[in-house]
Amino acid sequence: MQERIDLLIHAPWIVTCDNANSVLQDHCLAIAEGRILAILPGTLARQRYLAAQELDLSGHAVLPGLVNAHGHAAMSLLRGAADDLSLHEWLQDYIWPLEGRWVNEDFVYQGTRLAIAEMLLSGTTCFADMYFFPDAAARAAVELGMRAQLACPVIDFPTAWANNADEYISKATALHDEYRGHPLISIAFGAHAPYTVSDAPLRKIATFAEELDIPIHMHVHETANEVQEALATDGRRPLRRLHDLGLLSPRLLCVHATQLIAEEIELLSAQGVSVLHCPESNLKLASGFCEVARLKQHGVNVALGTDGGASNNDLDMLGEMRSAALLAKGVAADASVLSAPEALTMATLNGARALGLDAITGSLEVGKFADITAVDLQDLNSSPVYNPISQIVYASNASQVTHVWCAGKQLLDNRQLLTIDKSRVLSGARTWADKIGNL
Ligand SMILES: [Zn+2]
Repeated sequence: MQERIDLLIHAPWIVTCDNANSVLQDHCLAIAEGRILAILPGTLARQRYLAAQELDLSGHAVLPGLVNAHGHAAMSLLRGAADDLSLHEWLQDYIWPLEGRWVNEDFVYQGTRLAIAEMLLSGTTCFADMYFFPDAAARAAVELGMRAQLACPVIDFPTAWANNADEYISKATALHDEYRGHPLISIAFGAHAPYTVSDAPLRKIATFAEELDIPIHMHVHETANEVQEALATDGRRPLRRLHDLGLLSPRLLCVHATQLIAEEIELLSAQGVSVLHCPESNLKLASGFCEVARLKQHGVNVALGTDGGASNNDLDMLGEMRSAALLAKGVAADASVLSAPEALTMATLNGARALGLDAITGSLEVGKFADITAVDLQDLNSSPVYNPISQIVYASNASQVTHVWCAGKQLLDNRQLLTIDKSRVLSGARTWADKIGNL
């Protein structure tokens, strides 16, 4: 007697990204009620299960949906508005004034839809987002069926979202209450950076994060300038100050971390802090280099993010993986560091681990949600296939992503978005660009 289930996906390569990094040949994923029920040889799967839908993805690698662990989704609406500038000029002279003038709930909703559509088409099923109006971003993610962690912004100065640090924090805890137990949405604190959030709110965030059991995302040591200014005004490097305030713990996710001295790497390792590495944003803003190989040697969990569409300028995690792998080798002057499987793990399981979501996503394992991406490896640029992971990391591009599921729900079918009308997303983006107009 066959068991009735929802979906069987057959593929020549199931790239699990589990702890052993297993790649299973000619296997099948059995999906029921949104979760992975079994991973087994194809012939056995047909004997055991009767699926409502059965897909044979010949020539494809099937892998966990990619986890974009750091970004600012709605900033896709500012893509190309200000390029070729250092972080300081880019933020102070262009981005903050534009955001001050334009960001509202509709901006965030439309911008996040644009970002989600791009991310789904390039194989991402889970993204972490640090931006204003996180309620609007959450609404967009739920409507489109994508998994998201909203790192609610906390910053000392007033914006359209809140007037002061206390209001930012109370809005974050209210949103956490609203989405408690939601299958797709989780909430975190998004303390912008050490130089924009003062001690009192940081202490409060540390306490609330512990109480609510949620992460804290923060841009930390993004540039040498940030560290020097802190030394000049405060006498301490920012990480030392965060440590003194009690922020260093497995809850803290340090975005960028391009300026780390040996004792800081040891501190991050000892405190179980994760680093969210955004290589393309760091390169474009000439922020510095994150020493991924040294962090990994010290056992620090390093995950991968694209950062926002205004500093990257795309949200393609396949490209980001390749950049990360190549950059790590160059920075370490060692071609053996950050191998293709390690780069893929950074973009999947390590991301889920950083966000505290590794029990439910980040790898293809029985019991986890069916967050799945299929990459067609039959194209010219990825043929022949000796090693599917090598092809995914070093040779594939977003146009080869054909199918995506999140929590068992199909969101992409043969490169077609199923939960969102691409033309409506594009017209929403054009309307905003017209409004923002003369840059
Ligand atoms: Zn960022």
